[in-house]
Amino acid sequence: MRLTPHFSVEEFVASQTADRRDIDNSLTSNLLESARNTCNGLEQVRSLLGNLPILISSGYRSLELNRAVGGSKSSQHMLAQAVDFTCPGFGSVAHAIEKIMQSDIQYDQLIREFATIPGRGWVHISFTLLPPRKQVLIIDATGVRAYA
Ligand SMILES: [Zn+2]
Repeated sequence: MRLTPHFSVEEFVASQTADRRDIDNSLTSNLLESARNTCNGLEQVRSLLGNLPILISSGYRSLELNRAVGGSKSSQHMLAQAVDFTCPGFGSVAHAIEKIMQSDIQYDQLIREFATIPGRGWVHISFTLLPPRKQVLIIDATGVRAYA
């Protein structure tokens, strides 16, 4: 089922960890509005990054899946508000983060994760139905810090 023109429920819930461990990661109907809102935000990111394919590495995570991947206890992935992605056709994660920061996109949280060298890491971005925090962080092997 399509959530927005370029994103489907199937890719939003896909998880190799869930497949490997036989974890139910199906989206519950109460999270559908949130999932759609997140993918609408992702559509804006897709346009901003040149209408190139966005590869989602993690979207929705059920409680069990979030535990299995070692996600934060309050992870917005569990609320269908967050996605991890790369856009290889556009360029590095660092470059994508800069571009999103300079845009008017109303993200709640934007995190550069494990992108210490080009070709590594991913962008974590979240969208909520509330006024956005517009918080930007960096997470890597040394920990979490504000983007500066
Ligand atoms: Zn994430």
